[in-house]
Amino acid sequence: MRMMRCATATLVPVAAERIHKLLAAAGHGSRRQIETWIRERRLTVNGTAAFLGQPLTGHETIRLDGRRLVLRPGPGRAGYRHVLYHKPEGEITTRADPAGRRTVFRGLPRLKGSRWVAVGRLDIATTGLLIFTTDGELAHRLMHPSSGIVRTYAVRVRARPGAAELGQLTAGVRLEDGEARFETLTPAGGEGANRWFEVTLNEGRNRQVRRLWQTFGYDVSRLIRIAYGPLTLPRRLRPGRLQDLSDEQVGALYDVVRLDKKHKVRH
Ligand code: URA
Repeated sequence: MRMMRCATATLVPVAAERIHKLLAAAGHGSRRQIETWIRERRLTVNGTAAFLGQPLTGHETIRLDGRRLVLRPGPGRAGYRHVLYHKPEGEITTRADPAGRRTVFRGLPRLKGSRWVAVGRLDIATTGLLIFTTDGELAHRLMHPSSGIVRTYAVRVRARPGAAELGQLTAGVRLEDGEARFETLTPAGGEGANRWFEVTLNEGRNRQVRRLWQTFGYDVSRLIRIAYGPLTLPRRLRPGRLQDLSDEQVGALYDVVRLDKKHKVRH
């Protein structure tokens, strides 16, 4: 650890932070994204390729594809931005699509010196609540399975599932990436040959809701995310529209992942 001389001339340690944590906290992307850049050797620290878990003091010169990344100290709650988006059908949750399809990032406010991070992904056909934040650490925690954040969906299936099948979906079924289940599953009415349900999950695996129903051969014909942790999709927010989060909503998000201003973890 580097040592620094303070006013009284005693030596005090300068805390080192891991590269992915520091860059995420400065708003340059999610931890996972930063680790991918390191694996792809796109990030350099003082001119040499960065490595996973590399400790940094914050005084290094960091470049992504040759472009300098500004390393401000984490701005704390007040300096980050957070918005809630009502994703419409037909948009994909990726920064850029080689096929030129519309992305959820397209309509976000432009930023200088930081980046929007999407909290989780929704499939192209899924609509509903998507949170964006410039606080990479907050996004990371909200998505991480260990946080157990509850995601709530309204789902319409083209079928009339029996009680035994519904029981199985909450007891657990085998998917190709391991066992999965709905935490809760509540019938919410019918519509012709379709049935609506409200389901909750406390993890966010790829296409998890659709794959769970598919274990019984049932197709999902509508999927809407109506809540993510403490935030619910506002009734009056039209698809394709954004809304800034209120101070209370921001506070609730930090609280649910036990994260404090300046990223101190609360126990
Ligand atoms: N589960 C899915 O199947 N799709 C989504 O978009 C989100 C959760």
